[in-house]
Amino acid sequence: MATHKLLLLAGDGIGPEVMGEVKRLIGTLEAKAGMSFEVEEDLVGGAAYDAHGVAVTDSAVAKAKAADVVLLGAVGGPKWDGVPYDARPEAGLLRLRKDLELFANLRPAICYPALADASSLKRELVDGLDIMIVRELTGGVYFGEPKEIVDLGNGQQRAVDTQVYETYEIVRIAKVAFELARVRGNRVTSAEKRNVMKSGLLWNQVVTATHKQGYEDVKLDHMLADAMGMQLVRAPKQFDVIVTDNLFGDVLSDVASMLTGSLGMLPSASLGAEDPATGKRHALYEPVHGSAPDIAGKGLANPIAMIASLGMALKYSLGKPELADLVDRAIADVLASGLRTGDIWSEGKTKVGTTAMGDAVIGRVEALLAA
Ligand code: NAD
Repeated sequence: MATHKLLLLAGDGIGPEVMGEVKRLIGTLEAKAGMSFEVEEDLVGGAAYDAHGVAVTDSAVAKAKAADVVLLGAVGGPKWDGVPYDARPEAGLLRLRKDLELFANLRPAICYPALADASSLKRELVDGLDIMIVRELTGGVYFGEPKEIVDLGNGQQRAVDTQVYETYEIVRIAKVAFELARVRGNRVTSAEKRNVMKSGLLWNQVVTATHKQGYEDVKLDHMLADAMGMQLVRAPKQFDVIVTDNLFGDVLSDVASMLTGSLGMLPSASLGAEDPATGKRHALYEPVHGSAPDIAGKGLANPIAMIASLGMALKYSLGKPELADLVDRAIADVLASGLRTGDIWSEGKTKVGTTAMGDAVIGRVEALLAA
């Protein structure tokens, strides 16, 4: 039996609370699903700053590089507002992304039927929604040079950002999208602005060429990014995997996440390049939400986004898609039974805290495993 190396970085605020539920689920998967894990824990964010004066230590980064999967809770909070810029909690996360070269950001937008009424769209448009946005994370206009504001000397200034992509950056993100599609609905829609941007034209050409190199079993469509924004709120269920650049991905993934109801429900992944020798890639999984200082330490946090992050890891890093689907089904069943943490609570539902929600999901996972 393969032993999977996990590094847990719980971080700050509600991070340790939601990670606590994931630790219990890991125990269940070992005891009941025949999985074997080697689990290490370390500090990140404000917790690392308090202990070591940095937002993540070299030794934690080394552990992250050696792990099959890094699970991260959340970083930040008002306690660290005054710390030096380089040691601010977010710097720990940014260093991990940079050192592990995590160029592919995966943001699923899943709408559980029981929560469809919490969406800003009509129930029939979002009920059962399951799309995956693959955003290029380390290139494009956020990093391109020149990036500057120049004084023109006549009372005017000129601001410049540079949208730049090279072939290899597009090839590797397109491959991630095609490979993900194969374990999902087998469809990819690539979004760019080829009608007005050279980088969009190259993006379109390279995605098309990459598709022809061994991915023709996956259905590929192209869509202009503005049209996709419209389609995401008109008929979101038409999409399976969406692949797009850093800027459009930033905007479109936020639009998609609002279709689903609550921040406390949404997991994400950031993936690095595949090691040709081992076929493995660095991978960090984390909830989309932050450290929620307003409810931290009160046992109120919704652990589902963190639990679903482990679910994503099972599917995309640990070769256990059927177990990932089982975890998703357990979450859906618990929501259907009427249990809600405060963030997703509505009239007539039963309000529970972090541990009770974790108990319910883990209990349901155990029941489904035994079935
Ligand atoms: P947030 O996501 O922490 O909280 C926004 C709101 O959603 C709050 O009312 C919070 O109580 C609620 N919420 C979030 N997650 C929840 C959960 N699991 N269960 C129940 N309610 C939940 O965003 P914010 O308030 O803008 O930021 C707080 C801190 O988190 C800041 O320091 C910010 O920099 C940091 N942050 C970190 C990350 C990260 O670690 N990746 C992401 C976003 C924000």
